[in-house]
Amino acid sequence: MKLTFKPYTLNLKHQFTLAKSSRSTTPVVLTKIEHDQYTGYGEASMPPYLGESHETVTHFLQKVNLKQFKDPFQLEKILDYVNSIAPGNPAAKASVDIALHDLIGKIMNRPWYQIWGLSKEKTPPTTYTIGIDNEEVIRKKVKEAEPYKILKIKLGRDNDRAIIETIRSITDKPIAVDINQGWKNRDMALDMIYWLKEQNTLFVEQPLPQKMTNDLTWLTSKSPLPIIADEGVQGISDVVKAKDVYHGINIKLMKCGGMRNAREMISIARALNMQVMLGCMTETSCAVSAAAHLAPAVDFADLDGNLLISNDPYKGVEVIKGKALPTEKPGIGIELIDKRFFS
Ligand code: MG
Repeated sequence: MKLTFKPYTLNLKHQFTLAKSSRSTTPVVLTKIEHDQYTGYGEASMPPYLGESHETVTHFLQKVNLKQFKDPFQLEKILDYVNSIAPGNPAAKASVDIALHDLIGKIMNRPWYQIWGLSKEKTPPTTYTIGIDNEEVIRKKVKEAEPYKILKIKLGRDNDRAIIETIRSITDKPIAVDINQGWKNRDMALDMIYWLKEQNTLFVEQPLPQKMTNDLTWLTSKSPLPIIADEGVQGISDVVKAKDVYHGINIKLMKCGGMRNAREMISIARALNMQVMLGCMTETSCAVSAAAHLAPAVDFADLDGNLLISNDPYKGVEVIKGKALPTEKPGIGIELIDKRFFS
């Protein structure tokens, strides 16, 4: 098998503002694994706060030697090898994992949700993210979000109530909120969560900094809404530790190293009776499509990353009746539409 890769920069349609950062581009690395007449595509997306970059991913992928493997169906062996090259680097590892899954699905001529035996109709509707912004921009974004059934609102600065009041003056759609660790006080957080519940909110993502474990445990025991870990849970080994600290976990391929690990995290969370959300970074349709195959197995989907960018070289996952669904094409179900890549 042959692995090739290419750094690329995604342009965001809107400046993306969270509790602690603001940006208008996201670096990614697009990967490709070739075997016989088949080609599998993958992707690493590296939002700056997670510590990976074009340089680190390139450095990691240069060390990956897939020529030693002749059989893509040795998935466990191949991914264990990739994992053993260096610790960390989850997005770089995900870019190999996704391309390998795509390749295998193409050889089997089946989409992954079918290989896993999942039912597409169980897919929950995807949320559509509205970043922190001024009232005028928020109004515009809510209008753009017309096809989506649930809005995910970024909070965690000093204007949270004003943002929610603006949203509620335009739409009564259910919302989810993501604080991105922006609140610092558990009593204030609990008051806000009670108020948000009155505003038809479905769940609260990462209300306090991940290091405030005792306060998060207290909040989770008292909160009338599900508390979901995002920054507080990265990979497989974090799931057990999240029990009782949160009600649920937000799994992202770029945090956990790809489709294989994400599926394992869902199983562990279910065994612990925890809720599961499936999220993404700003990514192309490649990584978002890969995640969409797992969506029938989760409670909440937040798969809008490809919708927030203006230069997606792939076509794949589509939003139908508010759900982000993979295509019926084999593998992860994508098509390269910008042939400048990998030519
Ligand atoms: Mg989040």
